[in-house]
Amino acid sequence: TTFQDFALNKQLWQAIEEAGYTAPSPVQAKAIPLVLAGHDVLGIAPTGTGKTAAYALPLLMKIKYAKGEHVRAVVLAPTRELVMQIHKEMLRFAQFTDLRIQAIYGGLGPKTQIENIQKGVDILVSTPGRFLEIYQKGELVTKHINTLVLDEADKMMDMGFMHQIRSILEVIPVKRQNLLFSATFPEKVDRLSAEFLEFPVRAEV
Ligand code: AMP
Repeated sequence: TTFQDFALNKQLWQAIEEAGYTAPSPVQAKAIPLVLAGHDVLGIAPTGTGKTAAYALPLLMKIKYAKGEHVRAVVLAPTRELVMQIHKEMLRFAQFTDLRIQAIYGGLGPKTQIENIQKGVDILVSTPGRFLEIYQKGELVTKHINTLVLDEADKMMDMGFMHQIRSILEVIPVKRQNLLFSATFPEKVDRLSAEFLEFPVRAEV
């Protein structure tokens, strides 16, 4: 498999080439076509195997062609460090597009993050707590969200984020594509995926 086999576009292929990715990793080869086809995807792959690009590339493709002025996709991750890392990776892939990607996380006041959101954002990468905080301040239009990604779902369950994730699910549209990525697949993640994915297809490596 090559990246050219996927229905991406010129801007994304160019960014992939600049990133120095020559061939898709196994999780990318499995997940990218499934995400592009619109399935809910359950991606099980160890950390460091390229799962960020496995959801980020098809997500950027989808959001690029689902025009709108408000947030259309949300990526949730358990820690600030991970949010920053995912954000950086997504900016790299989006560098030749006009997509606006913002990272929001705790540990500092929400003021600048809210100002950034007000400037317009297509994809939001966030920790669960900060998403809810900004939503509760009335600073987040959620009704155009059509894709939700839960990254490092096992870690989110370990850190006790189930309640916050449920609260987020209550304030975003029901009709959406869900992507859940996890390094391991314990009972807790199984239950989470049963609760929040619809007819998921597995991409397991
Ligand atoms: P991740 O599992 O998404 O955190 O990725 C782990 C590391 O592998 C990151 O530094 C990525 O930039 C890199 N990476 C991911 N996919 C590929 C690929 N297909 N070719 C080369 N490097 C990659």
